[in-house]
Amino acid sequence: DTQKETLGFQAEVKQLLDLMIHSLYSNKEIFLRELVSNASDAIDRLRFDALSNSALYEHDTDFKIRIAYDKDARTITISDNGIGMNREDVIENLGTIAKSGTREFFQALTGDQQKDANLIGQFGVGFYSSFVVADQVTVLTRRAGVPTAEAVRWESTGQGEYSIETIEKESRGTDVILHLRADEDELLDGYRLRTIVRKYSDHVTLPIVMKSEDKDKDEWEVVNTASALWTRQPSEITEEEYNEFYKHISHDFSDPLAHIHSRMEGTQEYTILLYVPGQAPFDLYTREVHHGVKLYVRRVFIMDDAEKLMPRYLRFIRGVIDSTDLPLNVSREILQQNRMIDAIRSNSTKKVLTLFSDLANSDAEKYATFWEQFGRVVKEGLLEDASNRDRLAKLLRFSTTTSGSNAQTVSLEEYIGRMKEGQDKIYYIVADSYAAAKDSPLLEIFKKKGIEVLLLSDPVDHLAIPELQEYEGKQLQSVSKGAVDLSNLEDEQEKEEQQKSADEAKGLLERLKAVLGEEVKEVRTTNRLTTSPACLVVDEYGIDPSLKRLLQSAGQ
Ligand code: ADP
Ligand code: MG
Repeated sequence: DTQKETLGFQAEVKQLLDLMIHSLYSNKEIFLRELVSNASDAIDRLRFDALSNSALYEHDTDFKIRIAYDKDARTITISDNGIGMNREDVIENLGTIAKSGTREFFQALTGDQQKDANLIGQFGVGFYSSFVVADQVTVLTRRAGVPTAEAVRWESTGQGEYSIETIEKESRGTDVILHLRADEDELLDGYRLRTIVRKYSDHVTLPIVMKSEDKDKDEWEVVNTASALWTRQPSEITEEEYNEFYKHISHDFSDPLAHIHSRMEGTQEYTILLYVPGQAPFDLYTREVHHGVKLYVRRVFIMDDAEKLMPRYLRFIRGVIDSTDLPLNVSREILQQNRMIDAIRSNSTKKVLTLFSDLANSDAEKYATFWEQFGRVVKEGLLEDASNRDRLAKLLRFSTTTSGSNAQTVSLEEYIGRMKEGQDKIYYIVADSYAAAKDSPLLEIFKKKGIEVLLLSDPVDHLAIPELQEYEGKQLQSVSKGAVDLSNLEDEQEKEEQQKSADEAKGLLERLKAVLGEEVKEVRTTNRLTTSPACLVVDEYGIDPSLKRLLQSAGQ
């Protein structure tokens, strides 16, 4: 079927194109970063696939990304000799959005241009950003290993449909030709294009080449540094270079909060360059993980199966791990159950947790941002990663009856430092909201005695905090469970009064028990209330009421 076909974009693509053209205009240069990044990904993929099928090289292993411009035709062309695409690939990749988190992305849009531009950035502007500067885009592509007569030409004005036809293409890989919008002539300038490349794509590990501006010289010049940033000495890398590299790999528009760059030596050698983003991505809570941590072996990209390289509760970490020792000629399947990978994952996890605690010790403001953005995810680690529970416990921050605000700022260390004489437990309450926790009648006795209580209201707290059990030898105790024994903190007179009122209430308790019958397990007097007449509690081994509601709402 060489015939030309016209197909419609998926509705989301149309919506994204509209948004992008309007929100990204002030940032339009990034189209080049996106296309270079796609070219680089395509070459990485070819190199990986060719490890097990060298025919894919087609005798061309001189990998590079070319950028050319034509003042008369008013075009900019970005070419690569990477993996290329067949007809199905083109329809799938350039006609739809196949990303996970797409639905969440569209739901998160606000209509506020600045905010939306940021969201689009996180979502990954990608190929469609071409239309910010071009009113027509042509893609010529041939997949590695496919006959030259079975290449594909894709073309669109970004107005809802695109055409696709089979063509002849000698070279393997992809050419993206941008027909510039009427007012974009300033981009038809070799120096301008070089500046953009150096600004956004300097760290791309492949050579990015452009024709010499000297018309007498018919040669291609390498425009970028073309060295892998992470292979350089940290002392020789500027903050700006670290930040640009982060934006490249994370598809984020804003600077990261912190990074760790470290060469690991021991039973195996590898380098990690990992970042904490400045803000949580909109799809932090959706199942699938993407744009995570990329694994390289001696600078060749292998995979970005983030879950193999980082635990789920660190799914917001972005960056690169480059191993010296893993074999290059391994399949993805074998990598899935490689013990060396498990060791890399576990050591890198510890490094990242150390980065967090360093941040807590060195920069309170940044740590507060970190905790606000990612604390709820980090708490999942209490359930997921028992081996690091103590490390994680030190990172926790809480809102408490003493802190007096819903900002989570109090560490367990701080709590213990303020414990009352005779207090041997860390008390907490879990509720559905901060207000419900703060105003719970269960807290009355604690307020009266001046005992601080942790106020928990993140959904993850229901399961994660009980998992902690103890910290520095102090047991964690939910105030809504069982009898709270504060007798260590009471004087003789209080005890006598309590005994007296308990005796007086005996008759009342029997009547209540008779009336409530099966509805309750027990009715008893308590000294935990000061102004409320009664409250409901579960027994020591029962399920916390707010957890019960959570499970019910989840259909359990
Ligand atoms: P992303 O790069 O985040 O996947 P893009 O919108 O940039 O999103 O690209 C969409 C898809 O189109 C890519 O995942 C890839 O499969 C395909 N693609 C884009 N450019 C190229 C290229 N130069 N060579 C091969 N495939 C490409
Ligand atoms: Mg891309």
